[in-house]
Amino acid sequence: MRLYNSLTHTKDEFVTHFPGVVTMYTCGPTVYHFAHIGNLRTYIMEDVLEKYLRFSGYQVRRAMNITDVGHLTSDADTGEDKMLKGAKREHKTVMEIAAFYTDAFFRDCGKLRIGIPGTVVPATSYIPQFIEMISVLLEKGYAYEANGNVYFDTSKLKEYYVFNKQNEEDLAVGVREGVEEDLSKRNKCDFVLWFTKSKFEDQELKWDSPWGVGYPGWHIECSAISVNTLGEYLDLHCGGIDNAFPHHTNEIAQSEAYLGHPWCRQWFHVLHLNTNDGKMSKSKGEFLTVDLLEKKGYDPLVYRFFCLLSHYRKALVFSWEGLDNAKVSYDKLVSRIAGWSRDGKPNLAEADPYLAAFRDAMDNDLNTAMAITALFDVAKAKVDDATRRWLVGQMDSVLSLGLLEAADRVSTAADKDGAEAAPAAEKDAFDLEIEQAIAERAAAKKARDFARADEIRAALAAKGVTLTDTPQGTTYTRN
Ligand code: AMP
Ligand code: ZN
Repeated sequence: MRLYNSLTHTKDEFVTHFPGVVTMYTCGPTVYHFAHIGNLRTYIMEDVLEKYLRFSGYQVRRAMNITDVGHLTSDADTGEDKMLKGAKREHKTVMEIAAFYTDAFFRDCGKLRIGIPGTVVPATSYIPQFIEMISVLLEKGYAYEANGNVYFDTSKLKEYYVFNKQNEEDLAVGVREGVEEDLSKRNKCDFVLWFTKSKFEDQELKWDSPWGVGYPGWHIECSAISVNTLGEYLDLHCGGIDNAFPHHTNEIAQSEAYLGHPWCRQWFHVLHLNTNDGKMSKSKGEFLTVDLLEKKGYDPLVYRFFCLLSHYRKALVFSWEGLDNAKVSYDKLVSRIAGWSRDGKPNLAEADPYLAAFRDAMDNDLNTAMAITALFDVAKAKVDDATRRWLVGQMDSVLSLGLLEAADRVSTAADKDGAEAAPAAEKDAFDLEIEQAIAERAAAKKARDFARADEIRAALAAKGVTLTDTPQGTTYTRN
């Protein structure tokens, strides 16, 4: 497989440190508000990447952080602390906000069939690991204390701007609008590892540390969580393109200074989803969420399909018209599949060239648009229905568009309209577990215990189960 690597700026042959095993780290959400569908574009593409690596035979060990403490990088930050801002907006504590929006994030992931990484670590649960890493950076002379804070000293590195060799001035100034100068820093790119003093004195969450009571800077969380959960050699690090600088640049600085050797060799960055009037942002008035898509009558999987129609390394403009076009195409595919017989055995030899076309597309820097063309080619293929269904199942184990289930729903509905109803699909133990959880959730809702009801929904979402509430009751789909 060839994958574009932001470090080398070329499509490199994908390699792993240990044969057959991929260690993969994902920058998780900052849980002060709902994720917008731009954030979710990044998570969809990362999910497809993970599923394709598994499809290709790798074992994937994947970890993700949840940014539930601060989001500050320097005392010059003029923006508010996002978590604190969320807490003030909703008259809740920071931890309540974090719990609520973490659940909301997992719920959205469930609806979009984004698998949850095997290891998920809230930053607040890793404070001792952050302190340990910062202590080593101080010992090794890569960090210094000034005015109550601990800073990373970027002048100690051979190379700091690892992703782009752009003009240093542009980068340093252009990172964020309205950046003031932090007079405690020795170099303008230095960043805070641990705060004990900042102008955000009203921080709710603080911890004791060798440098006084305070809280970590943003970048340290991903370095420490990654090294502690996935080990010293990381194969693949993912995130949205905005994270390349300064966040990932600073992660590399910290991790390599701490470890004393190169850390992560492949960096996967997803370009942004924008609207016609520019960048999508949580701080803009009406921002686009999965809930909003559903309210407008779209199946979230149509949005996933919309994302997969474009390459992850191209900025994507969202429009309702674009989503409608994706829906027409998705529905067409589903109704073609619904017309195929569900009987018979696949002919794997005949299936082979179609699966090879799918692999070729995905092996070429995760070209999901070409992979979807390969999927449509199956619909036109001169092979029997059982082979076609098998091929769709194979491809959809990576793309996760729920195609066979959607098609079965369509054909079951058609059968009901017709003479005789199709036999119900056989239930397994997991179906029974889900049904039990749904009943428990209904009881919680009846008792107006909405927190418990949300908890049950989130727990199911984490297992890849999406619930849909209808006037007739709650239905579900499995990942
Ligand atoms: P945040 O919750 O702000 O920490 O962001 C979560 C993820 O979404 C990160 O990987 C970001 O790089 C990514 N991201 C932020 N904005 C967008 C966007 N408009 N399109 C795609 N990904 C984004
Ligand atoms: Zn990160």
